[in-house]
Amino acid sequence: MPRKKKIQRIKRTKDIYEKPKKLGRPFLYMSDEQQEAISMQKCLSYWCLATPVILDGKAFSFNDHEYLVDIYDSDKNIEIYQKAAQMGFSTRVILESLHKCKYLYPNGVLYLFPSKTDVTDFSKSKFARLMQENPILQLWIKDTDSANIKGIGDGFFYFRGMRSRSGMKTIPVDLIIFDEYDEHMPTSGKETKLYASSELVLERLSHSRFKHQRYLSTPTLPDFGINLLYQASDQKHYFIKCQHCNTLTCLEEEFVAAEGQEQKVLYYSKVIGKVIVACKKCGKELPPIGHREGNWIPKRTDKNLTSGWWISQLHSAYISSVNLLEQYEIHILRTRKPTTGKPNPQEFWNSKIGHPWVSASARLAVEQIRACCSDHQLQNYDSGPCAMGVDQGNDLHVVIISLRFQKPTMLYIGILKDWEELDYYMKAFSVNCCVVDALPETRNAKGFASRFPGKVFINYYIDSKKGDYSWNESESIVQENRTESLDESHMWITDKEIILPASGIFEVEEFIKHCHNVAKKLIEDETSGSKRYVYVRLGVDHFRHSFNYACIAATRVLRFGSGVSEVQINSTMRSAESDWG
Ligand SMILES: [Zn+2]
Repeated sequence: MPRKKKIQRIKRTKDIYEKPKKLGRPFLYMSDEQQEAISMQKCLSYWCLATPVILDGKAFSFNDHEYLVDIYDSDKNIEIYQKAAQMGFSTRVILESLHKCKYLYPNGVLYLFPSKTDVTDFSKSKFARLMQENPILQLWIKDTDSANIKGIGDGFFYFRGMRSRSGMKTIPVDLIIFDEYDEHMPTSGKETKLYASSELVLERLSHSRFKHQRYLSTPTLPDFGINLLYQASDQKHYFIKCQHCNTLTCLEEEFVAAEGQEQKVLYYSKVIGKVIVACKKCGKELPPIGHREGNWIPKRTDKNLTSGWWISQLHSAYISSVNLLEQYEIHILRTRKPTTGKPNPQEFWNSKIGHPWVSASARLAVEQIRACCSDHQLQNYDSGPCAMGVDQGNDLHVVIISLRFQKPTMLYIGILKDWEELDYYMKAFSVNCCVVDALPETRNAKGFASRFPGKVFINYYIDSKKGDYSWNESESIVQENRTESLDESHMWITDKEIILPASGIFEVEEFIKHCHNVAKKLIEDETSGSKRYVYVRLGVDHFRHSFNYACIAATRVLRFGSGVSEVQINSTMRSAESDWG
């Protein structure tokens, strides 16, 4: 019989109750009891181990959760956790909250969830269980009437839904936790006002001398929510040392780099006869969880960066390598049939690998938009018929599409300051229909519409509306479903139904950027639980919306005619084509 190689469990210093070393000189002159008391107060991991806190019937330990040791002890003002599902982060932030409420914070902690239902579930299950298992923590909690407020030490521990504006105003706190952060995010700049925005929430920290923030979430889209925060952080990656060749492997990084191909770091080894997690260099098996020598290494080292962490289920003791590989084969490689439902790559990358992902059809790629570019320059006038779209914010973002060619052709992209300037462009381009965003300056939009009756329409998105756009001439209003209209203009680009000016022009490059900055995301309705797609912003996206309005305007011109006869369109089209080649 082959002799089994004995694997030594790596002893984490934390597991043998070593006192924190960072407490400085005064420590030398203290009695053991004093030192013990200070260690308990100052060091979260030490407190959890020495108490010990009971979790799911067992004494707190870092066994099988090696990656959490440094995460427990990192205490920067802003900590960002981009993580796979079920990796122990909620527990980390709850324990930190209780510990700091007791020993440090004068005001307390605000724990934020995306919705009210989440708050109730959490308070009833996770928090209640923790209290039941830990009589010592029960002693800390002062009675309060509400299930969502607990008095601890000098302060309070509040649980709130992000979208409840009311509960937010009067609470001063020292730490704010955003759980499932990606679900908190407003989908567009203008919707921010509907939710309790992050700014409003962060104001709660203004009277605190700590101003601590914790953001945790499985990522959803790239450049969005938790991923945006992680990108701006020091980007810590978790590396495992190979016992055969000493190479450090970051499993997450290797896994993502090999998207769609056979994985080198997770495969079925014929030699060993099982699925293994392997070293990126020599391909040999890495030590199993509980025996891994891991190191967190930041990708960026500038001094003022926030602290960010990324971890996947490749380090979870509860998910087997066999299962992960199977999921990869089902959802990404598609070499294996799912037992139920369809392959869901989004879910795999987000929940299993903690990696943001968007399907090619849900976000316009820069190359796709560029492929619509012709070689004509921006124009200053046109004989029409033309359609115009205006997105309003601090400035007016305007695009104008001429409809006198074989395909709709964009002639103008620009940013204007004053509403009166729009009048000039209406005339210079013989605009037949213009759609303008109703918010935030509805009065200005109405004034503009009143100067061009029958031509300028104020846009209101109506979620419940499906199908055709409704034009109301008497009130100069157009209404439609936001997602449907954005789908439509999205397809103008994917199907090359629009001709854009030459790339390289400053305004065109801005236009391309803005169009790349929105993506379609599946969101769940808080009350009904029904799911629907919405386009969310991943960066500055004004021209994407001007383009959408221009497309809406263009459908009206194309459908109801423009007052310009077919013959005229054809002849002017030929002359214009010869102008620009
Ligand atoms: Zn190796």
